[in-house]
Amino acid sequence: MLDDGYADIQVLEGAVSPRVAAVRPVRCLSYSTGKFKNGAVGLCNVGGTSCLNPLLQTLYMYKEFTDLLCRIGEADDHVPAERRFPYELVALFMDMQDSREDAVPPYRVLRCLLMAKLTLFAEVDVADVFSSFWNHLLQNMPDRPLEEALRSLFTISLEDRLTCQRCHRQSCAHRDLVSLPLRVSHSKYHRKLSLERALWRYFQDSYEEENFCPKCGRNGRVRKVPRLRSLPRTLTVHLMRLCKSRSQVQKINRTVSFPPTLDLLEILGPERLPEDKQQTIQYRLFAVIAHSGTATCGHFSSYIHSCRDKGWYFFNDSCVCKVSWDDVKCTYGNTAFHWGSTASLLIYVHSDAVTSGPGAPP
Ligand SMILES: [Zn+2]
Repeated sequence: MLDDGYADIQVLEGAVSPRVAAVRPVRCLSYSTGKFKNGAVGLCNVGGTSCLNPLLQTLYMYKEFTDLLCRIGEADDHVPAERRFPYELVALFMDMQDSREDAVPPYRVLRCLLMAKLTLFAEVDVADVFSSFWNHLLQNMPDRPLEEALRSLFTISLEDRLTCQRCHRQSCAHRDLVSLPLRVSHSKYHRKLSLERALWRYFQDSYEEENFCPKCGRNGRVRKVPRLRSLPRTLTVHLMRLCKSRSQVQKINRTVSFPPTLDLLEILGPERLPEDKQQTIQYRLFAVIAHSGTATCGHFSSYIHSCRDKGWYFFNDSCVCKVSWDDVKCTYGNTAFHWGSTASLLIYVHSDAVTSGPGAPP
């Protein structure tokens, strides 16, 4: 295994395999700099930008992502300001890596996002910001193969098997997601939920909804059963803790546990996986973006696993510190929480070399 820790992730047969035309990278990040000698560095809070800093720090620490992004090369003067977002992102990452300070201001990236009128200042859900951020990045990639490689890295591709309740005929629909939305419902008896159970429910439950049936050409009720079309390289899960009741939005702090490693075959069973990919499929937790506060007022931070030293780090804007797996588990949530930090986005990465979970006790 190489010392960057991610060299041991082999692309499994059938997993999304980013292939990019030979383009000379500007400079790949070394993940050997800064206070912790693993690249970890803070970002200045430049004012009410909600979850932008944790997203930037998570992407910065994701070596597989930065290795791809850094291949865009340097922007020349002909790249218009409204198309410079990928280049400014690389420039920010280089500043973060080279910084001798504890924190770097993300002004130029923020300027690009504000020019594109992305909603960052309101108390919005992190998955919405991530989706807008991601689409804006892909739309401005200067190179199509590179855009496709990045898209593949985060795409969760699903096939919905639909059965029309009017004509009883079956059809299929495909959809691509950047994060899998798992609803966290209120539990009257404060029952705990596990990520494994929530994933199982998402894929096992069939339900009916108003939908168009291509067989009889009419709108009506359909039964929908989703399954994975391919194995995502990055499995991002959105724990949907916001719930609308009457005119109010409330945050549900119910406990949702999540493991350091996931085996999709064990959780979903072979019938919910791509037909030719039904071997043991391991993912390991790479990052948790957590929210503290209420539905209308709060703050985001992130826990990220370092590919360099295999430790967990807590990123809270300009502050970065080393933490333990037990600290990460504190984001499971608790109904007694009023301001406590709860996991909102869980980012798992595909791995076939999991012998012990990240941060798990030896
Ligand atoms: Zn029909």
